[in-house]
Amino acid sequence: MNIRFEKAPYTLKVKPEDSKLGFGKYFTDYMFLMNYDPEQGWHDARIVPYGPLSLDPSCTVFHYAQEMFEGLKAYRTADGNIQLFRPMKNIERMNNTNKRMCIPQVDPDDVLEAIKALVKVEKDWVPHSEGTSLYIRPFIFSTDCHLGVHPSKTYLFCIILSPVGSYYANGIAPVKIVVESEYVRAVRGGTGYAKVGGNYAASLIGQEKAEAMGYAQVLWLDGIEHKYIDEVGAMNVFFVIDNEVITPALDAGNILPGVTRDSCITWLKNNGYKVTERKLSIDEVLTAAKEGRLNEAFGSGTAAVISPIGELFDGVEHTIINNGEIGKVAQALYDNITGIQWGRVADTYGWVEPVCSAE
Ligand SMILES: *Cc1c(COP(=O)(O)O)cnc(C)c1O
Repeated sequence: MNIRFEKAPYTLKVKPEDSKLGFGKYFTDYMFLMNYDPEQGWHDARIVPYGPLSLDPSCTVFHYAQEMFEGLKAYRTADGNIQLFRPMKNIERMNNTNKRMCIPQVDPDDVLEAIKALVKVEKDWVPHSEGTSLYIRPFIFSTDCHLGVHPSKTYLFCIILSPVGSYYANGIAPVKIVVESEYVRAVRGGTGYAKVGGNYAASLIGQEKAEAMGYAQVLWLDGIEHKYIDEVGAMNVFFVIDNEVITPALDAGNILPGVTRDSCITWLKNNGYKVTERKLSIDEVLTAAKEGRLNEAFGSGTAAVISPIGELFDGVEHTIINNGEIGKVAQALYDNITGIQWGRVADTYGWVEPVCSAE
């Protein structure tokens, strides 16, 4: 793919201090853009100065939300390399989401090339401190200008980059979560398995409710029986019961197939743990807890990698998990997966994708 580079005619931004990064607050100097129309397909790949996009108010994405996004990171290793973690898994998922949203397919090799090219241009933006990284946000949205309800003929593909701080700057703190009894995130046949903004818009109200009650995240139950566990916040979820690691299966189409989820399952199976992907009811979890058989619970996702759950509130009872501390399985996953991402642990799975040397 031919990527045109348009150099910024002005002085570049002053980079923030690593300690002030947070998540998604700062953006780098450049972004990647590429257009789609039926005649040319994806075309005009370019890296241009980061800045506002000008869109007609009738642009279909504002009205009917035909859009998708992805999220992955670039990591700086101690020996001076910049690397990605399983980017092809994100790109594969991108095309699965596109299919569900009637967005044209992208060429996986071209997308990987675009991500690498942009990260390479912005390599000085990959922060140095422990636990920091450069978050990569590819997204596609419809750009036709009219109010008819059907798939857009034209699209814009963007990639923006944001240096992000360590998720656990003050150590890994288990979170308190609450079961959502009213709203649902996904239903069979819906868009639960697709990474789309609409799923997030629909989940905000549950998250607001949880926060008002003093909880960090929502535990989502299935949309049909309101019985089986789906996800926690915008993360996949794992429960360890009688030393068996259980996570909801993907086959009903209401679970987002997390790259971190898949990496956890693979690592655990390779290290002798019993891992099961199946339906798991909230009752089974609460019963196991009462009988002292619930060992651990944790969420998984690119941002935090592993987020241990210290307390679960079902609206009646408060269940404290593993004394409110991070468990052995969660700690092993965290150490090994972040180890591979930052190059501290040997990558025996072929998960690391080098971008360039940091110098
Ligand atoms: C992105 C996402 C995840 C986690 O996926 P990763 O690839 O591990 O980052 C889980 N649930 C939802 C709803 C998501 O959007």
